[in-house]
Amino acid sequence: MSTLVISDLHVDVLTEDGPKQILKGVNLTINPGEIHALMGPNGSGKSTLAYAIAGHPKYEITQGSVTLDGQELTEMSVDERAKAGLFLAMQYPVEVPGVSVANFLRTAKTALDGEAPKVRTWVKDVEKALGQMQLDKSFSGRSVNEGFSGGEKKRHEIAQLELLNPKAAILDETDSGLDIDALRVVSDGVNRFAEKGDRAIVLITHYTRILRYIEPTFVHVFVDGRIVAEGGKELADQLEADGYERYIREAAAV
Ligand code: ADP
Ligand code: MG
Ligand code: MG
Repeated sequence: MSTLVISDLHVDVLTEDGPKQILKGVNLTINPGEIHALMGPNGSGKSTLAYAIAGHPKYEITQGSVTLDGQELTEMSVDERAKAGLFLAMQYPVEVPGVSVANFLRTAKTALDGEAPKVRTWVKDVEKALGQMQLDKSFSGRSVNEGFSGGEKKRHEIAQLELLNPKAAILDETDSGLDIDALRVVSDGVNRFAEKGDRAIVLITHYTRILRYIEPTFVHVFVDGRIVAEGGKELADQLEADGYERYIREAAAV
């Protein structure tokens, strides 16, 4: 079971001028095996949702809850959330100078499992995961995200997904900055993860491009801090044709 339930989530971002309300009541249930695409214009609060669920200190949950398999995540530390099975791929991943990809992955895996992975199988697993993402062996010796190209960052994230095997994954603009070949590789990686079954996946994007390669179970339109429309994958095609204009106008009229 891997069910992620977001209920009536209200979130303020803490700015220099004080708190500013961004999320205004988000409701979303992702059942095991489902891929939910969350689509919306720039500035609608999609990344805020991802950061708030991850436990970023700049984002304050003022109301509502987020549970994974019934466990309340919002009361947990960032580490506890990861241990509970949550994985987040950030739109702008941080650089970790001096920490190699190999060490980073091993530390993350050790923290999740409560014990270090067996060296020989782990080295093979890492090689396989990097290879599947078409990252060179030498990649594991590089500092995390330092000087990575946009494509390398995203490939590295999906390699993490493969190795850390979370219950729920929130992927924020995993498709941004990718050329068509990298988009394929990254999409294949997400699909491999989805095929394990029993995983809850949220795919945040503002382009429909990636949805040609990853078939969403449901598509949600996100405008002004809320989900304003829901549908199947045909909704993505409609958005591609018509844009967000109509939804933005309707949201402004409320
Ligand atoms: P999206 O990911 O949909 O493009 P974001 O969640 O990044 O949207 O941003 C939603 C709104 O919150 C925007 O108006 C943005 O300017 C504001 N915001 C997000 N983070 C911060 C921050 N750290 N400081 C000030 N404003 C922020
Ligand atoms: Mg944005
Ligand atoms: Mg964003």
